[in-house]
This record gives sequence, C-alpha cells and structure tokens, in this order.
Amino acid sequence: MVRAIVGANWGDEGKGKITDMLGENSDIVIRFQGGANAGHTIINNYGKFALHTLPSGVFYDHVTSIIGNGVALNIPLVIKEIDDLVSRGVPKPHVLVSDRAQIVMPYHIYFDQCEEERRGKKAFGSTKSGIAPFYSDKYAKIGFQVADLYADEASLKEKIAGVLVQKNVLLEHLYHKEPLQVQDIYDTLMQYKEMIDPYVCDTAAYLHQALADGKNILLEGQLGTLKDPDFGIYPMVTSSSTLAAYGAIGAGIPPYEIKDIIAVVKAYSSAVGAGEFVSEIFGDEAQELRTRGGDGGEYGATTGRPRRMGWFDAVATRYGVRMQGATEVALTVLDVLGYLDELPVCVGYEFHGRILKEFPTTTHLKDCKPVYEYLPGWKCEIRGIRRYEDLPENCRNYIEFIEKEIGVPITMVSNGPGRDEIIHR
Ligand code: GDP
Repeated sequence: MVRAIVGANWGDEGKGKITDMLGENSDIVIRFQGGANAGHTIINNYGKFALHTLPSGVFYDHVTSIIGNGVALNIPLVIKEIDDLVSRGVPKPHVLVSDRAQIVMPYHIYFDQCEEERRGKKAFGSTKSGIAPFYSDKYAKIGFQVADLYADEASLKEKIAGVLVQKNVLLEHLYHKEPLQVQDIYDTLMQYKEMIDPYVCDTAAYLHQALADGKNILLEGQLGTLKDPDFGIYPMVTSSSTLAAYGAIGAGIPPYEIKDIIAVVKAYSSAVGAGEFVSEIFGDEAQELRTRGGDGGEYGATTGRPRRMGWFDAVATRYGVRMQGATEVALTVLDVLGYLDELPVCVGYEFHGRILKEFPTTTHLKDCKPVYEYLPGWKCEIRGIRRYEDLPENCRNYIEFIEKEIGVPITMVSNGPGRDEIIHR
C-alpha cells in the first residue's frame, strides 16, 4: 500500500512532522522530487532536526529511506546529513539512493548564484542550491545520473567536456567568470562516487519487489501545490513537480499504487521567496503571527529567511488539495492561532469587480484582492488536547469551516510540533 504526504499550500505546512509520525507504520519512506533547497523540521525523542534531502523516516530503525530518481541529489550534503544524525545519537539509517537520480553538480550551485545576481531586483528568491540549473540540465539532457559515476574514465571525461562547452560560454560571456576545467569536475565526481557508493541501488526494482511483498510505502513531497511548475504561481515556483502524481515517476512505481493522498494544510498561510500571495499580511500583524508561528517562529528551515505570512486562503487551498488529488487532509499548526480575537479566512478573490472562487493563473492573480469572512477566536491554548471533542467550540467551528470550504475530510489536526501532538478525527 502506498500513501503520499504532500503540501497543499506554498510549502512549510508541516509535512515533515506528519511523515515522521506516519513513518512508524511504514516500511519504506521515499523522497521523490526536489533537493536540499527546502527542509523539514522534525522534533522527536532524539531532538530537533532539519532534514533537507533525507526522507523523514530516517529516525526509525525499521524504515528503509529512499532517495528516488526524481530528486536533485547533492551528494556531499546527503552524506553530511547522515553523519549529523549519527553524531547526535540516531541509529545509522538504512538509506538507498536511486542509480537514476541525477547529481547536483558544483557548477549548478554556482550558476544559481550567478543567475540570481545577474537578475538583481528581478531575482526569483532562489535558495541558491542549484535546483533550477540542475533541472534545466536534466531536461536539456546534459545531466549526470548516479550511474554515470560508474562509467569508464574516458567516456565520463568526454561527457564532461561536452557539457563544459556550453557552461564555459555562459560563464565567460554572460557572467564574466573563470571557465571550468574537465579534470576538476572529474575529480569531484570521483569523490562523490566514493561517498555515495554504499547507498546506490536500483530502487525502482527494489520497490517493485516491496510492492509485491505488500510493504507499506510512504511518498514524501517537498514544498506544495502552489510551487508546482505547472499548477503553481509560475514562474515563482520550484523546478520539479510537487504533486502526488509525480510521486509515481519520481519514485518509480505504478501510479495506481498510490491509494491514499494526505494533503498537509496549514491553519494560516506562509510562503518563502517571491510570487503572488493574495492573503498576505504585513507589518506588526504579520510579525506577531511569524513570531508565534511554527515551532519557534516562521523562519526557513534551510535558509533562516523570515517567511511571508498571511491568513488562511480557502481559494488557494481548495485548489491546492484538488490538484494533489487529496483523499484526506492533515490540518497543522492550529495551536498557533489561539491568540486571535477573530480569524480572517479568505473565501474569495475580488478580481475586476467579480468574486473568483477558482484559483486563477499568475497573470490574473496580480489583480486579485482577498475577500474575508471572520470567525470568532477561541482565545486559549489547545496544545495537549488529544480528543477532537475536547477542542473549544470556536476552534472546531474553524476546522469545520475550512473543511467545508476545501471539500476534503480533515482527518488529522496537529496542535503542536511534537510527534504525538495530533488529534485524529
Ligand atoms: P515542512 O517542510 O512541510 O515539513 O514544514 P517545516 O518543517 O518547514 O515547517 C513546519 C514547522 O512547524 C516546523 O518547525 C515544525 O516543527 C512545526 N510544526 C509542525 N506542526 C506543528 C503544529 O501543529 N504546531 C506547531 N506549533 N508547530 C508545528
């Protein structure tokens, strides 16, 4: 049985926590897209961890953690993540890396930096982890798969030389930097090979067998619907699909095996990077929510950047869960909202005198204004509550209002960052 945990918003919904929690009953947890550009924050009995590439199942001894072919694989960072866990007392995780995963090359990170600098005020707000150059090269067919590390020296060098023809023209003439040398790239790749060798696996074949054996498999997405290159706020999106459907491709399993899609929805909105954000709030109002939000404030797990804040957006979230194909929803960080007298919920977008209920394309989003409905606050701490009936009435009303707006059952409510801070409905 395969389940997917994915984000319905802009990312940072708390997917890591939900995956860590559900990891307990899983045999295999798989990352299927993205790279080390975002992170999941996880708090459990070993401490507080920020995972960037490793799947959130790494804390369980019985879980096999797979980095799928769809991931942008930064080899030194993955090794560092594994070493960090072990140095903090976590048993060495069972990690498998797809031999078809492609490698984030040092020049991808370099090009990401150069391009953001060149764009200046028009920068994407990239984390400069090399993700956009990486996926561009993958689809331009000049990427390097893990399996390429095992090619003979002459063929690998020939391939590197072919790629550097293009890279060096850009470096010298667009960015005014020094050209790259074949031997340097080759040497780096040989170091990468040594690092990653113990983990390399034909993971698609491994998963084929695991499915035949009836294993429980969890697909873990990064970011959320609104950062998807097709359905998100293009071009201020990420470079790989954040949708559950892509889990089949990025892991290498049949699409019909994904039986359950848990969309993680945040009880308010937050986003990083540039891009349209209709229910965004500013100033003191935003800072108060930012400071109270998440666990110790809404600051990026990878970059430490302050996140942009906003009220719950039912238009974006309804679309977000629908494009994920969500079968159920986990509503997170609800505990944060106990300070508010009333809770604004964005229930429509005003667009040139009309009210939109459907999430529009980026071109139209620019002209949208939020239409709010206000729900009474519950004005108390809800952490520690374990039964739905024990939540204050206004809090239940908020949850049920959101559920009605998004049209998918909310089966889990998260009221704290810890693994057991969850209310099942
Ligand atoms: P992810 O990328 O979707 O896993 O999200 P992040 O890890 O970036 O952000 C979620 C943050 O919220 C982390 O700091 C979590 O520890 C925290 N968190 C998750 N669920 C809850 C919750 O229900 N309440 C509170 N207060 N914090 C939560």
